[in-house]
Amino acid sequence: MTVLVLGGAGYIGSHTVYELIDAGQDVVIADNLLTGHVEAVHPKARFYKGDIRDEKFLDELFQKEKIDSVIHFAASSLVGESMTDPLKYYDNNLYGTMILLKSMVKNGIDKIVFSSTAATYGEPESIPILETDKTEPTNTYGETKLSMEKMFKWVSKAHNIRFVALRYFNACGAHISGKIGESHNPETHLISLILQVPNGQREFISIFGDDYETKDGTCIRDYIHVTDLAQAHILAMKYLENGNESNIFNLGNGVGFTVKEVVETAAKVTGQVIPSKICERRAGDPAVLIASSEKAKTILGWKPQYTSLEEIIKTAWKWQKNHPNGY
Ligand code: UDP
Repeated sequence: MTVLVLGGAGYIGSHTVYELIDAGQDVVIADNLLTGHVEAVHPKARFYKGDIRDEKFLDELFQKEKIDSVIHFAASSLVGESMTDPLKYYDNNLYGTMILLKSMVKNGIDKIVFSSTAATYGEPESIPILETDKTEPTNTYGETKLSMEKMFKWVSKAHNIRFVALRYFNACGAHISGKIGESHNPETHLISLILQVPNGQREFISIFGDDYETKDGTCIRDYIHVTDLAQAHILAMKYLENGNESNIFNLGNGVGFTVKEVVETAAKVTGQVIPSKICERRAGDPAVLIASSEKAKTILGWKPQYTSLEEIIKTAWKWQKNHPNGY
């Protein structure tokens, strides 16, 4: 049983590979290394450098390796960039996934788990967010992920393919070993940016708006540890291996923290003062995003292990203070 991890050199992909290998799986990684890091590639995985938009590359890979399931992370994921360069997102996320599906159909690969996002919902109609809630993305990134889900739905009806889409809330933290972690260029995610302050790389953290209708006026998000996300992919893969139908699941802790609370917790973890400045709101930011993950818990048997924000930030800090410039 070999698993192909597309984007396995990226943040969530590399953490999933580590969990797969710990679980005794045979793993093949394909990554174009545009945003992934060769240092994040697990030494026990077989690595192929290539792009999912390259049908020949995928066909050759499927012919060479006996792939049983695919876990697909190979996508662009910056909300801001998706608004200034939307076609990059249609190309990489949607066109790339279309080529992948063509190659999977051709080569008889019938199971895939892939990254989706809370950004598929847009402004939520109620909290916590359920998988059945309306999906009206407010940015191109979320729109391309929602379109990917729909492409999978229609392709799976026509061909012998089953899928699981995992809608992540705010992925954060790093592997417990401190060997791999988050390393984006540019960095846009809150916890990594906050930790740049105690690391001496940033004087203060900008807080994007303090006039939201929340307890302290700053946005509330549901922070979920990357290793818990990784475990959900393994459970989703097993769910498909057991013959279950295609499905969509939210993945979050079900608890919300304000931006100010995250800054305070990071100050506690690092033992340092973290100055902040209130700035303008960031366009397209909903006030509150909190997941209901009851469906993943009930159907997949998923149980997040990192339920404390402090523990989550500790893992991020362990990684970041030893790798201030990433890989
Ligand atoms: N945020 C912030 N300052 C920053 C980066 C992010 O105040 O420098 C806020 C952002 O407005 C959001 C939350 O932190 O409310 C999480 O943002 P992030 O970009 O990490 O994830 P997103 O929720 O956009 O997926």
